[in-house]
Order: sequence, then structure tokens, then C-alpha cells
Amino acid sequence: MIDRLRKSIANCKRRLSCECFHRNFLLSLSAGVSLLPEGAGFTSIDEDNSRVKVLLMVAHPDDESECAALVYRVTHELGGIVDQVVVTNGEGGNQYSAPAQSYYRSSTDVDGWRRQLVRIRRRELIEAGRILGIRHHYFLGQPDTGLTLEPGDGFRAWDTNWIRQNLFWLLQREEYDLVILLLPTINTHGHHKTVAQLTLEVIADLDAENRPAALGVRTLGAEEVGPEAFFGLDSYPLTRTAAPEPIWVFDRKTPMNCHRALDYSIVSNWVIAEHKSQGAFQMEFGRRTHECFWLFDVCGESGAARWREFIESLEPRREDFGRYPVRAYESSVAGSRGKFS
Ligand SMILES: [Zn+2]
Repeated sequence: MIDRLRKSIANCKRRLSCECFHRNFLLSLSAGVSLLPEGAGFTSIDEDNSRVKVLLMVAHPDDESECAALVYRVTHELGGIVDQVVVTNGEGGNQYSAPAQSYYRSSTDVDGWRRQLVRIRRRELIEAGRILGIRHHYFLGQPDTGLTLEPGDGFRAWDTNWIRQNLFWLLQREEYDLVILLLPTINTHGHHKTVAQLTLEVIADLDAENRPAALGVRTLGAEEVGPEAFFGLDSYPLTRTAAPEPIWVFDRKTPMNCHRALDYSIVSNWVIAEHKSQGAFQMEFGRRTHECFWLFDVCGESGAARWREFIESLEPRREDFGRYPVRAYESSVAGSRGKFS
């Protein structure tokens, strides 16, 4: 891990550039949208001595649930920092939200309810972030056009140049060790694919020695036999992974460090409960048991080294690897191409 003195100096530089950074952002923003963080941050973070910095880059409010256990461990056990960028307003997908409309005592028509959902889902996300220890939320305010498998949907509907520009600034300023995306599998939401492609484009534009570990995450249900190989998304070469197998799998049933009688499924269930307006998502309680992470090839040796440093600091116990036998991270990083050995 980068030594603390160098990190402390870098933090001071970042603070000095913060005002200019925000001014530049504000000048480039469309109306009503700001990359200034929103919501109460996790207040017990010692930023100068933080051991790891992580960015979650997601399309929708509730996407962060895919890696809830890992985020909790970073913020609560490693003293790390986690920020979250949410690209869309999350107003799509309201067909299962009737119980929440009653819960929130909303009596408007469908259009009015959809408009209310923007504010409600933002608030739900901030509450979920409080559980996970998220420091800052950045809302990019792009339209959620609803369910699609097409990555082109997001490319057409969003101001992608603006997203790239602001994400580039954020990555340069914060120097995250890890950037976590939802894995862009063929069957996942098209917006997840768009966000993955945009983010990996920005990471590819960073100097090779400054690239974070870029990871794709997906959860497994208890009924699934194991993680499928993922090589990358066709027609999007930047989504190619360093190895087809996950680099790491975390079993949410692992006993918590704070008390061995408890496990990390508690955290994911708390997060799910906060997203009441997501309807069917509320039925996911306890269903997804493993968080699987793939390393993207584009982050190169710099990203692979940061991943190794991170996983060593997490000090995974044997049972962290759960019932799905995956290669230890050293051999997974090397992969079949032996690129990072
Ligand atoms: Zn999503």
C-alpha cells in the first residue's frame, strides 16, 4: 500500500485543488445537476489515514446492493473510503412500486408518482449509503429510460461526453484504489453495460501507472452452481477481463468480524430494506449469497497491483472463498495470459 506520508501529502494537494475542481464542475454542469456530493457522509472516516479508497460507479439507485458486504467491510473494518456515482435518476421501473406508493402515502397518478420516485429513490439510496458507510454520493441526473438489454439505449439518452469528463476529473482528484462496476454480462440491464463501457473508457484515458483496479461485480443466488466464466462483452473490447473466472468470491454467510454468530447477509438485507420503492427487489432478502468480482484487463499492472494490496489488507480468511472454489487471487491475477505475473 502507498505509504502514509505520501498519501497525506497527496490528500493536502487534493484539498487545495478542491475549490477549483468544484468551480470547474459547476461551470460545466447542465441545469439542476451537480457533481457536488449529496447526503450525509460517513463521519468516522480518518481520510488522511484511510487505507483504501473505492468508487462505486452504477446506473441505478439499488445497484450498490450487489457488493454490499464488500463495501461494508471496507468502510467498517478497513477504515476505508467509499464514494458512489449514480448515473440515472432511477425513475424507470415503477411497475412493482405499488406497495411503496401506499407506504409513502402518495395518491398521485402514474406520471406524478414517477416524478416523486426521483426524490424518493435518491433518499432511499442515501439511507442505504448510511448503512454501508458511503462517504459521498454523486448524482448525475441522467434519465432512466426503463428496462432494456441494449447498451446503446444509455448512449442515446445520456450526455455521455459530460459523464466522461466529470468522471475523469473525479478519478484524477480522488485517486481511487478500486473502481467497482456491475459486471456487464449479456443478460444484465443495458444501462449497466453502458456505465461499464463509459467508465472503462475513462480509466483507459488515465496514465497507465495511475489506473485503479477496475472490478465488475455480480451476485450469485444460493440456487446457482457457481459463477460462469466472463471474458467480456462482445463488441466492447474494453470490458475484457484479466481472467474469465472471478478474481475473488465473498460468501455473505461468512461470520462477521464483530461477532462470529452474525454474518454479512445482515448488511445486504438492511440495504434491500431501504429500497422500498423497488418492489420486487424487496423479495431478494437472503437470496443472493455470494459476491463475485472480476478484474478488467484495461486497468493493467497498476490496477492489478492495487488489487493485490487491497486483498492483502483485507486479510481474507479461508472461509471467505465460500463453497465456490476459485483460484486464489495471485494466480487469478496472473490468469491464463500470465499478463500480471
Ligand atoms: Zn441497475
